Amino acid sequence: MEVRKGWREHHFNQFVSDLIPLDRKLPDFRDTRCPQIFSRSLPKASVIITFHNEAWSTLLRTVHSVINRTPEHLLEKIILVDDGSTMPHLKDRLGEYIGVLAKVTLIRTTRREGLIRARILGTKHVDSPVVIFLDSHCECTEGWLEPLLERIAEDFTIVVSPTIDHIDANTFEYIAQKYVQIGGFNWDLKFIWRHIPKHKFQGNEYKPITTPAIAGGLFAISLEFFKKIGYYDDSFEIWGAENLELSFKTWMCGGSMEIVPCSHVGHVFRKSFPYKTGRSMLKNYLRLAEVWMDDYAKYFYQRIGDLREDFGDVSERKELREKLQCKSFEWYLKNVYPELEIHTNVLQYGQIHDTRGICLDSSVRPMDMLGTVDPKPCHGHGGNQFWQYTTDRRIKRDDKCLDYSFDALLLTNCRVNAETQKWIFENKTKHLRHVLTKNCLKNAYFNDSRRITVDKCYEEQSQVWIIS
Ligand code: UDP
Ligand code: MN
Repeated sequence: MEVRKGWREHHFNQFVSDLIPLDRKLPDFRDTRCPQIFSRSLPKASVIITFHNEAWSTLLRTVHSVINRTPEHLLEKIILVDDGSTMPHLKDRLGEYIGVLAKVTLIRTTRREGLIRARILGTKHVDSPVVIFLDSHCECTEGWLEPLLERIAEDFTIVVSPTIDHIDANTFEYIAQKYVQIGGFNWDLKFIWRHIPKHKFQGNEYKPITTPAIAGGLFAISLEFFKKIGYYDDSFEIWGAENLELSFKTWMCGGSMEIVPCSHVGHVFRKSFPYKTGRSMLKNYLRLAEVWMDDYAKYFYQRIGDLREDFGDVSERKELREKLQCKSFEWYLKNVYPELEIHTNVLQYGQIHDTRGICLDSSVRPMDMLGTVDPKPCHGHGGNQFWQYTTDRRIKRDDKCLDYSFDALLLTNCRVNAETQKWIFENKTKHLRHVLTKNCLKNAYFNDSRRITVDKCYEEQSQVWIIS
């Protein structure tokens, strides 16, 4: 019962979290090559933690881990921002608890603002040179702060993120990342983790490494630089896109971003939100695309099909970009994120559907190697139903290709010259013919098996496809 309540309210195992001490000890996860003594004098930092209906134990374990593992002279204060929480334990009880903790202050928004405006509000209470943001279910480990501050001391335009380790949402075990990963995104503007190409390392795995984007929950930034680039777009609601807004404008407006492997902070990753985001997320993404992505916004619009939402007025944000004389999105892609594929070899794109409104629908999660393809009613919103038919005769879903081998139809990583991934869309018959087997893609949805299969080519409705 208790266990289920925790999962329901927080989407993690609160029951287990409550059994673990608020100041539990954690190993030192730093690479042995990480410096422990810093020659230059480091600036002071304030830590902002916004929360909406966070569990008691995770919130306070975050706070205690900061207090316990931050050198006193480097910490200005910890600012907790309660963003419209309704749970009773976050009312007077929280106020009383933190009232006796030195350096911890609690402010409350007057109504639910979403994490973006809650963070901006927190920032107004900062008077140290550096601001650090943490989620309300984190744990800082030994030596987490100094290497972050050192980068900002070196250059106040560097925005830094620690290595974000996993705290298991079920067991609350702290699992340190074995390999440093950097950030990126696809044309759906969702953040992804990426392995670092070997040549970028050369035995320097412990040194700060530049990243095109950060996950956005945990990072340090100079207050002056944050102010200069206009904090966040304060019309962003609840959650989402603020990480890329910060990433794009940091790079485009004269700064840079790094992951700092010597700084380890744990975060409880969960599979879904315990709160509703509604259509606000889409609004944020549209504002982001409109203001920062120039002509490249069209790739995002392709991806979302007919999904639209009123995104309000963005003129002030455009003026900000103008005033700061920021570089173009093209510059950013070329110089900072050349790995992002720009699909110039696309013959046709959109949904692949039959004449009855049934679409090829894929389920590939970012970390999966394989994806499956199923027939589902077309929804018109891109995403899982967004396909690209390319000049080299492949049917692509992001970086995955439709692959038919050994009687199985799957999505696999696109490989050069993989004959099993070649298809020809025949304009006359509207067949999608698999080159190697000379068979055709077939929609068995209304016949027998409710599957997408590959079969001998016939002139029949189940083998007629439209790409649009
Ligand atoms: N949060 C908030 N207001 C909101 C939504 C979220 O203050 O309207 C807080 C939340 O409590 C957490 C942080 O913002 O501390 C990030 O949210 P979450 O952990 O749900 O996002 P994720 O880590 O999954 O990206
Ligand atoms: Mn979180």
